[in-house]
Amino acid sequence: MGIAALGRPAIFLDRDGVLNEHVRHAATGAYEPPHAPAELRLFGWTIPALLRLRDAGYLLFIVSNQPDHAKRKTTLAALAAVHAALEARLAAAGIAIAETAYCYCHPDSDVAGYGAPCPCRKPSPWMVERLLRRHPVDRGRSWMVGDRGGDIDCGARAGLRTIQVRDPCSIPGDSVAAPSFRAETLADAVHRILAEDGLAADVPAARDRGVA
Ligand SMILES: [Mg+2]
Ligand SMILES: [Zn+2]
Repeated sequence: MGIAALGRPAIFLDRDGVLNEHVRHAATGAYEPPHAPAELRLFGWTIPALLRLRDAGYLLFIVSNQPDHAKRKTTLAALAAVHAALEARLAAAGIAIAETAYCYCHPDSDVAGYGAPCPCRKPSPWMVERLLRRHPVDRGRSWMVGDRGGDIDCGARAGLRTIQVRDPCSIPGDSVAAPSFRAETLADAVHRILAEDGLAADVPAARDRGVA
């Protein structure tokens, strides 16, 4: 088996709270994932951070629980529209997502086909394992980045290194596994990834964000 057969390093990205902001919904006062393209707001550092990963040679995947149709808060069509808007925004910036995996289920759902049992919902590693079967990825050189405990356990159970970022608008919940690292934002996570993998850029991550 040659080196090429081992595959490329990859970053498995949670979506809400990592790439884009949670949205405060007036009706409930709660912070929720975007339910329409107009509600999709990328963090200011998302595109520069993903460009750094792209340029360093990582395949990029999104792995996301999207239970709000199962919770009767939105529709599958609306979730698809948000996804299309996200892919378009990233593509316009030159960022290709190799594949996105969504779990649309929720264990408490009464929508037929979207409740338990569901193999895919994080913290299950099911979605990551499926992507690993479909793409030439070197698991041991890859990472999961998420804001919630379920993201960290998903990545840990898939044998990935993990980074937990802090989203002030989400409740992180607990993980069984400790994250390999913690970071304030995706920008800081990327700085850590490049440093750990011996690909450190010259510019500190904080300076990318205009932080003195
Ligand atoms: Mg999240
Ligand atoms: Zn599922």
